[in-house]
Amino acid sequence: MNNQQLWQAVLGGMEVSLSKANFNTWFKNTNIAERGADYIIIAVPSAFNRDWISAKYQQEILKTLKNLAPEIKELKYRLGGTSSQNETTPNKPGTKNSTEQSSHKEFSTTTGPSNFSGLIPKYTFETFIVGKNNELAHAASQAVAKSPGTQYNPLFIYGGVGLGKTHLMHAAGHRLLQTNPKTKILYVTSEKFANDYVNAISQKRMEEFKKEYRGVDALLIDDIQFMAGKEGFQEEFFHTFNELRDKGKQIIITSDRQPKDIPAVEQRLVSRFEWGMVADIQAPDLETRMAILRNKMEKKGSVLSEDILFYIAENVVSNIRELEGALNRLAVYQQMENRGMVLDQAKTILASIIGTKKRITSAKKIAESVAEFYNISMEDLIKQSRKKEFVKPRQIAMYLIRKELDNSFPSIGDFFGGRDHTTVMHAVEKVENLKTNKDSFKQELDLILDKLFI
Ligand code: ADP
Ligand code: MG
Repeated sequence: MNNQQLWQAVLGGMEVSLSKANFNTWFKNTNIAERGADYIIIAVPSAFNRDWISAKYQQEILKTLKNLAPEIKELKYRLGGTSSQNETTPNKPGTKNSTEQSSHKEFSTTTGPSNFSGLIPKYTFETFIVGKNNELAHAASQAVAKSPGTQYNPLFIYGGVGLGKTHLMHAAGHRLLQTNPKTKILYVTSEKFANDYVNAISQKRMEEFKKEYRGVDALLIDDIQFMAGKEGFQEEFFHTFNELRDKGKQIIITSDRQPKDIPAVEQRLVSRFEWGMVADIQAPDLETRMAILRNKMEKKGSVLSEDILFYIAENVVSNIRELEGALNRLAVYQQMENRGMVLDQAKTILASIIGTKKRITSAKKIAESVAEFYNISMEDLIKQSRKKEFVKPRQIAMYLIRKELDNSFPSIGDFFGGRDHTTVMHAVEKVENLKTNKDSFKQELDLILDKLFI
């Protein structure tokens, strides 16, 4: 029996015991990459598939193999390519423990402490589509990247959710680094700044904190509106701002509204925000939305017809993240189905994003969906256990409750058995990071969201 036949036989076995959707999600585009004397290396399209298959289906695969190729004792995995570095060798093959370790590792190594610039690789000028809605902010960001600390300092970019503020800010950061790789850039959300500040005070590490924040060449502070009402933070930020600006270091700030509309912010900060350049980003027009969709589609290497793109562009109007989300979702389905898609199918798939979106009303509903998705009990999801297999779903549930319901951090902490609000903030930040940096993780979240809305 050759490798292909062997794998077909295994898949045949799996197919009968799984629902079609499940089978397609996890086993489409898998095959045997290599077969040794006593092991098999399975090629999987993503780390997400690998973790899932090894956690849930490894035993069953081995059982089937036992009849067909009894010499096989061990399963390894290889992501997409052929480099052996990509292999996952569970130390105790087939045991639950080893797979948990691998998936946990995957989860934690992508984030970690921000002792690096924190820039997201794909947010560059090259991937940013310029339209009438954002040309000012784009030009200003380029100018700042070209001659930092001079013309426009600070650069203050504001606009609604998902319109490219963070993207532009990172793009300027990347360009600065390209021009001079030694540039010290620090990207943080204002929530992280505030959190670091509070920790520094309580742990008596203020000197360290100041060194970190005031020793940079460019400070990128995202979503400054969250400084509203936090006086200690504002005081500290005021001094950081002054020192950096005096030294000719560049500051870039984003916000969902213009400086004077941010509530509960000291006047002296508001006026400083307006010292440099204030640039807004508006919602993109239809033409720009189409351009963004075409561009993203080409980058993904997927092919969707014009009428599908138009359908998305016409219906998703005020948020580029959602525009992208719609496209990604279709791309994932298309990949799974491995064939062209017609408009009606696209409409069905996008029903959860476009049109009458069923709003979720409670944290409990979200938590239940997440628990169900990961096949764990509500009790395990909520209670204090730090076991790895529960931590990830819990963090995802916290994130979704925050994003979908906009509940406060403390109230989410309460919901999860009285956890501290900083734990929730950490979870949200972590999931956000993974979501932006790891496509497979993003897909995982999308699948959960699909279930929430359908
Ligand atoms: P914001 O910070 O304003 O909420 P983001 O910068 O996070 O928005 O953008 C949301 C998503 O939309 C990101 O994936 C980003 O790459 C994408 N995006 C936004 N504007 C553009 C654009 N003009 N061209 C290409 N992609 C964009
Ligand atoms: Mg942002």
